[in-house]
Amino acid sequence: MQFTRLRLNGFKSFVDPTDLIIHPGLTGVVGPNGCGKSNLLEALRWVMGENRASAVRGAGMEDVIFAGTDSRGARHFAEVTLQLDNSARLAPAAFNHADTLEVVRRITRDAGSAYRINGKEVRARDVQMLFADASTGAHSPALVRQGQISELISAKPKARRRILEEAAGISGLYQRRHEAELRLRATETNLERIGDVVEQLA
Ligand code: ATP
Repeated sequence: MQFTRLRLNGFKSFVDPTDLIIHPGLTGVVGPNGCGKSNLLEALRWVMGENRASAVRGAGMEDVIFAGTDSRGARHFAEVTLQLDNSARLAPAAFNHADTLEVVRRITRDAGSAYRINGKEVRARDVQMLFADASTGAHSPALVRQGQISELISAKPKARRRILEEAAGISGLYQRRHEAELRLRATETNLERIGDVVEQLA
């Protein structure tokens, strides 16, 4: 699925609504130091479900909300919208009835994050799985931070394996396996409890 538009509103330095149209092929973003190039990449990670404040260079997630300047007051919320071309109908069944997918994440001070896909409220997990199944997402190695290449060179084999898994398109399965293991463990505990009760009754 091709990203076609990124819209930022109150996200970090992008206090006014800003639209970035992403055409097929290569898109370059150029500008002087501190103009917000990295903020754009972080907005992309964030709307795809990033849940580590450190990955968007903040101490807490609310740090992504425009903090104000000498001439403009701080904002109360930040919102990022990512539009995707779904004309090839590659989205999960629940969202696969439209040619365009619109994923929105909004954070409000003291109220946390809320997500919508095509206007319907969804969980963070739904958004994360949507992008994991499309072999991308907040942790995708396709999004390269400053300094990440040197980190990669000195990375442990386990960390490198994650990149191969991403390329093989199995990251979504990884997450599902983890959730299945948690459910299995909970069921085993329930079975043990039932065993105790049966023993007491016998
Ligand atoms: P460089 O080329 O030096 O890496 P850059 O173009 O990638 O710079 P960014 O790091 O994306 O720039 O943007 C930094 C700017 O964003 C700084 O001016 C910083 O004050 C501003 N900024 C970051 N968070 C917020 C926020 N919450 N509210 C307002 N401005 C913010």
